[in-house]
Formats: sequence, C-alpha cells, structure tokens
Amino acid sequence: MSVMEATDLYRFYHVGDEETRALRGVSLDVRPGELTVLLGKSGSGKSTLLACLAGLDDPDGGVVSVNGRTLSRQPERVRAALRAEHLGVMLQGGNLIAHLNVLDNVTLTGRLNGKPDEDGAIKLLTQLGLAERLHAFPAQLSGGETARASLAAALAHRPRVLLADEPTAEVDAQTEQHVIAVIKDFVRRNQSAAVIATHSPRLAEQADRVLRIQDGRWQDA
Ligand code: ADP
Ligand code: ADP
Repeated sequence: MSVMEATDLYRFYHVGDEETRALRGVSLDVRPGELTVLLGKSGSGKSTLLACLAGLDDPDGGVVSVNGRTLSRQPERVRAALRAEHLGVMLQGGNLIAHLNVLDNVTLTGRLNGKPDEDGAIKLLTQLGLAERLHAFPAQLSGGETARASLAAALAHRPRVLLADEPTAEVDAQTEQHVIAVIKDFVRRNQSAAVIATHSPRLAEQADRVLRIQDGRWQDA
C-alpha cells in the first residue's frame, strides 16, 4: 500500500534555445510510516521532483497520485484541495504568508480544513525551538527560523505526506537534532510519510530509505 505514487516523471525546462532535462523518468512509491531522504548534488532535480509531487509544478510526462487521487494535470483548484487535505509542503524559500505571524501561519491550513489546533501548533513550534517567535512576522525571522516555521506550517495539520526541501538548512547541530526528532515523531505518530531533500548526513542516517538522484534520474536505475 502506498500513500503517494509517482510514475515515470519527466520535466523539461526551456529557457531561450536551452533545454534542461530536470527529470528524466523518475518513479517513486511512498509508503505510510516511512521517512524517505533524497540525496543529490545541486541541480540534480530534487526541488523539481518535490514540486511535482506537491502539485506545484506539473510534469511534462508521467503521473503523480496521492491517496489514490490523481494530482498531476489537474486544475489548480483540484490540486490545492488535494494539497490541503493530504500534503504538507515545505519548499525552499519557505511557504509563509508575509502578513501573518508565525503562529497564524502554522494554524492556517488547519483552520482552512475546519480543524483548528492552536495548542498543537504551539507545541510543535516549541519542539522546534520557536516558542519565543510565535508572534514574529516572516520578515523578522532568520534563515534557519524561516525553515523551521515553514516546516511547522507543513506539519501542523498532520498531513498524510510531508514534502520538504532542506528543513535543516542554516541551523546548528543541536537544533538540527530537534528538527530531525520532530520529523521522526511525525512519521511514527501518525503513520504518515515524509519525502525530504537534504544535504544533512544526520538526517540521511535516520531515514528508512535513501534515494540518490543524478541528472534527473535515480542514480542506481
Ligand atoms: P536541485 O533541487 O537538486 O538543486 P533542481 O530541481 O532545482 O535541482 O534543478 C534541476 C535542473 O533544472 C537544474 O539544471 C536547474 O538549473 C534546472 N531548473 C530548475 N528550475 C528551473 C526553471 N524554473 N527554469 C529553468 N531551469 C530550471
Ligand atoms: P506529548 O506526547 O509530547 O505530550 P501530545 O501527544 O500531548 O504530545 O500532543 C499534543 C499535540 O501536539 C498534538 O495534538 C499535536 O497537535 C501536537 N504535536 C506534537 N508533536 C507533533 C508532531 N510531531 N507533529 C504534529 N503535531 C504534533
């Protein structure tokens, strides 16, 4: 049984006469209770893959489905609804809304889903070392704080699948352990799944599955 499937994804970018083949036939099966880590050097296609899995980008070929529902090549309205219901997404640059404070950002999806949980959000932010930053606005956060607040915003509504890009960016070793603990706890507690792109060897060590991507393909494929 899987909570998310990607089959034979292709994604080509065109800039002027240049074509970049960011994904070239990537398939992935995401199972509940599993932490999957994506490794690959800069430019190998990790962010593109996560964006396609999140329904924020559309593959040129292949299919993405979540909980048995097709996410790829759907109208934005359908993708947004599937995302809010099943996915927690944290991409690079963060996904925080500038005019909402940290706490309101983190409780937002839960409120939209009709399941507000402010206590849970505060607990999560505290575990991530952001207890003092609940009422700060995104522009006031450091890079590491932005990454952690964005992770909290992706997790608070307890999605079936967390998709995260470098959640431990710009944090010290101790904070990194807290972030990893929150992710592990999330996967175990909810039998959810996580797919995380990272350069962190500590995070990769904790993964149930490590997949290596190179030039838009699985390295071993
Ligand atoms: P990673 O996340 O592993 O660093 P990316 O998915 O960001 O890799 O990029 C994969 C390839 O696609 C790179 O060659 C990158 O330059 C290219 N690329 C990514 N996004 C775009 C875009 N919006 N337009 C053109 N090329 C892009
Ligand atoms: P603890 O076992 O640490 O006392 P609880 O089981 O009382 O924590 O959790 C209280 C709330 O905190 C949960 O309802 C949930 O909303 C939130 N929470 C704590 N950790 C997480 C997590 N890793 N992911 C999502 N929500 C969490």
